[in-house]
Amino acid sequence: MSRHLIPFNRPELEGRELFFIAQSVLSRSMSGSGTFNGRVRQVLRERLGAGEPFLTPSCTSALEMAAVLCDLSPGDEVILPSFTFVSTANAFLLRGARPVFVDVRPDTLNMDEKLLPAAATPRTRVVAPVHYAGVSCDMDAISAFARPRGIRVVEDAAQAVGSTWRGRACGTLGDLGAFSFHETKVFTCGEGGALSVNDPAVAARAEVVAEKGTDRTRFFRGEVDKYTWRELGSSYLMADICAAFLLGQLERWDEILARRRSIYAGFRERLAALERTGKARLPIVPEHAITNAHLFFLLVGGPDERARLIAHAEARRIQLCSHYVPLHLSPQGRKFGQGPGDLPVTEDVSQRLVRVPLYNSMTEADVALVCDTILGFYGHG
Ligand SMILES: *Cc1c(COP(=O)(O)O)cnc(C)c1O
Repeated sequence: MSRHLIPFNRPELEGRELFFIAQSVLSRSMSGSGTFNGRVRQVLRERLGAGEPFLTPSCTSALEMAAVLCDLSPGDEVILPSFTFVSTANAFLLRGARPVFVDVRPDTLNMDEKLLPAAATPRTRVVAPVHYAGVSCDMDAISAFARPRGIRVVEDAAQAVGSTWRGRACGTLGDLGAFSFHETKVFTCGEGGALSVNDPAVAARAEVVAEKGTDRTRFFRGEVDKYTWRELGSSYLMADICAAFLLGQLERWDEILARRRSIYAGFRERLAALERTGKARLPIVPEHAITNAHLFFLLVGGPDERARLIAHAEARRIQLCSHYVPLHLSPQGRKFGQGPGDLPVTEDVSQRLVRVPLYNSMTEADVALVCDTILGFYGHG
């Protein structure tokens, strides 16, 4: 049992997950080539509306697979935000590439596209935007930077399953897009991910890379009579019992997004007073972006105030969380030459950001309790 009345996250059964797991087990086909893999990929094809989706063991592995498909060599550079999860950086480091961290925009906390030209060098091969909190980056500006320079765009859409930019699905707007189905994300199977591949020629390679670098998938389709090692690869497949669970979640796509968006709207409405009195800032969603309501946060006055607010909520058994120690300030990130003072917006917001609980089964009373607790801390209401 959780010691929290309202934990930060609570993964939920949404429908037929356990029934599908039983079907997967009874089908005697539980590997990555099982039927639920096919069914989930079909749902994703329809929901994303572009690109070819591949299921992976995690978003981390989807990013690693993307890095393999980008054919990076040691010394190649990848531009990414410092305000992100470590996997965005590790995936490229594993290929010998060097991360170049850029600052985020003060409004969306997404990669600041205006900083890209100055961050680019002749070795820049990839730009990796992260759709923070499920709010899309300015993909028009990022594409306009990358395309003419022959730089690949790898979207870290871990938090953005169901989010859109100008009506198009996040994760399908660049060359490659990685999604997460971790238990803290909008749709889950515990641990899981997907990689969306736009170019059909790269999708043909993705099938090989994901099967340990072999053409085993073609063998299963009867297109070759034995399978062989074709190129560098790894095992980037999702077990079918995980895909079965995930299908149970994805079947509830519209309901889950509608519920989360209504919870998100509840937070915005109830906490608006803090913005009016200048106590805290709420998320900003730009004109062309529609969020999946992955997470809701406040930017408060400073690190001490944040620690006191988190403790105030904790004492009332409500779990609030900070987010992201900037990568360029971490022991591993410091090795690439950037340090304190280099990315001022990232360094500022990472000390002031507080995430509130947001999960599918939250009731209006839960939202009210969280908000009243926060408002109480600020002497409101
Ligand atoms: C959750 C997350 C990941 C990692 O996802 P996993 O499925 O746990 O590997 C990567 N990047 C971002 C931005 C995330 O939020």
